[in-house]
Amino acid sequence: MELLHFTGQVWRPPYEASSQLLQVTAGCTHNKCKFCSLYHGTKFRLSPIAEVEEDLKVIQDYQPRARRVFLTGANPFALSYNRLLDLGLLIRKYLRHCESIGMFSRISDIKSKTVEELQNLRHLGFDSISIGTESGDDDTLAMMNKGYTANDIIEQCKKLEEANIRYNFVYLTGLAGRNKGEQNAVNTANAFNQLHPFTINFVSLTVFPESELYQEIQCGNFVEATEHERLLELRTFISNLCIETTLLGNTVSNTVPFVGMIPNDKVRILNELDSAIRNAGEDELRLYRDSIVSL
Ligand code: SF4
Repeated sequence: MELLHFTGQVWRPPYEASSQLLQVTAGCTHNKCKFCSLYHGTKFRLSPIAEVEEDLKVIQDYQPRARRVFLTGANPFALSYNRLLDLGLLIRKYLRHCESIGMFSRISDIKSKTVEELQNLRHLGFDSISIGTESGDDDTLAMMNKGYTANDIIEQCKKLEEANIRYNFVYLTGLAGRNKGEQNAVNTANAFNQLHPFTINFVSLTVFPESELYQEIQCGNFVEATEHERLLELRTFISNLCIETTLLGNTVSNTVPFVGMIPNDKVRILNELDSAIRNAGEDELRLYRDSIVSL
């Protein structure tokens, strides 16, 4: 059996489990977020068109009826408008049933595209993307070298809305550090409330030795939030959210897993968090965090 080209670690959101993966990039164009070790050791690489075409021929043989393709790499949306157009046309050539294409994107990757270009991409099937926003609090975003502000998130995602491209967010609890979770939660909720993310995915900061943040912790420049603080932060964030969206908090990094839609499930989720805040011991929760070997 022919093998597809994949370089380094391949990540996809849990809700893309049934999508056909296709490598068009590897690594991250930014690679500077302090907490990140996801693509450690993988330099950004653009797949040559001939290589993508080779993979599409294999997929055509094994998954000829694939309906959704998820492009891999940390942020394939960084590719130029013309490159994405070429890729969309190539996917359509080989996978005639494919009607939907997704990928990860950074906020700055949207910035380089006009609304008209985004609309054209949408017509070609680029209908939903996932963005590792992590926070909407400017202090936290700057401290972690995310490379954009809350206003950038709002401006760029409004362009996606105009182009009818669905987007999913990530909120990373604990990212602001000790005693800053409440501020992070309120400011992030204020930013997200101005938008319409299809889902918000919750991850809790889990620091691995390959990250820059790990070194900062060793030097005493960053103090991690306690596990209870993170649950309180999550509680504040969710209680301040006043949009309709789906909350997905069921990754390995969540000490208290939850899933639900708001506004309908808001009270239930807050009750679940309250119960954990009352009953779960800090040591027990931290022990769980320390046992996580990979996200
Ligand atoms: S968090 Fe995302 S954008 Fe930041 S370095 Fe990691 S992969 Fe790149």
